[in-house]
Amino acid sequence: VVTVVTDDLVLVDHHCHGVVAGDLDRARFAGLLTESSFSSNFDSMVGIAVRRWCAPQLELPAHCSIDEYLDRRAEWGWRRVSARLLGAAHVRSWLLDTGLAGAVELPLTEPVDFAEIADGAAFEVVRLESVAERVAADDVSAADFLDFVEIQLRDAIEAGAVGLKSVVAYRTGLALPAEPPTDVEVAAAASAWLRWGRRRLDDPILLAWLVHLGARLSAELHVPLQLHTGFGDDDIRLHRADPALLGDFLHATKSTGATIALLHTWPFQRTAGYLAHLFPHVLVDVGLAVPYVGERAGSVLAELLELAPFGSVCFSSDGYGLPELHYLGATLWRRALGRLVDDWLADDVMTAADAERLAGDFAAGNCCRAYGLTVPV
Ligand SMILES: [Zn+2]
Repeated sequence: VVTVVTDDLVLVDHHCHGVVAGDLDRARFAGLLTESSFSSNFDSMVGIAVRRWCAPQLELPAHCSIDEYLDRRAEWGWRRVSARLLGAAHVRSWLLDTGLAGAVELPLTEPVDFAEIADGAAFEVVRLESVAERVAADDVSAADFLDFVEIQLRDAIEAGAVGLKSVVAYRTGLALPAEPPTDVEVAAAASAWLRWGRRRLDDPILLAWLVHLGARLSAELHVPLQLHTGFGDDDIRLHRADPALLGDFLHATKSTGATIALLHTWPFQRTAGYLAHLFPHVLVDVGLAVPYVGERAGSVLAELLELAPFGSVCFSSDGYGLPELHYLGATLWRRALGRLVDDWLADDVMTAADAERLAGDFAAGNCCRAYGLTVPV
């Protein structure tokens, strides 16, 4: 059997965040190795994956104890640990969502520092809700608010951002209307929300307006609009993050030129694959799930591929805070894809040429074409 997916298959990570710029004690490290803010557990698939796969990168034996691992981390310091793990991920370009604030009272690296530490390229993806909340904090009128949000999004793309991102799944959920709300409805909602001085954008009319604005800018400026779907931190209500709820929105945007990227998708990866099968403007990934399900990553990826067309599948780690998550996302994803492809080749499901093209497209090609980046060779 020819092995198509090797450890040096170059990836482009289309959704991740910065790493914490500071040293972490045991509790803070544990707090970042979970999606929960009130429980943590090293004794889980992600915990054993850190011991198995990250430890050798820190020049420790595979499967060393968590205490040994944390001692080495403290000895090396965050910058050396991050450089080693991010470098070993063999990711050529990272697309950083800069809209999520720092963790555990320490700042996250900005794209410029991240690129330097990771020895790769870093691009910004702008979060719609963060821009809207920042504009609202500046004491603007309702009319100005609506204009300024659009202007700031356009300016960010003009300045080099390669994508837009929405976390509407965390706010009112993914059951978005097919049509954006009318100008009258939006103006009334904006003045009510601003009058109450709310910091968190959770108004359903404003969110529907904002996500439709994102889709319109996606079509006009050729930047994908990423939507968080599926599991995430404990701020989410999972039933509202089911991508099946996007049916009306995807029908409405399918012929506009917009590209909609469904991030994470677990445990709805089969639904997401079906949506990508229906709609040619949909991209899908299983980011975030890969580090957390560890050895089960192959099953998750295989379920996505039951229906997802091969041109719709992208790679992301959703690494956040800990460079371990970026590294595990890349390493476990390559390993899972490699095993799937090797099985298919052994069973004569496809040719080696088909397999090579598929692996290259999943790793970087599909993402680079969608975001207008150079495909690494
Ligand atoms: Zn994320």
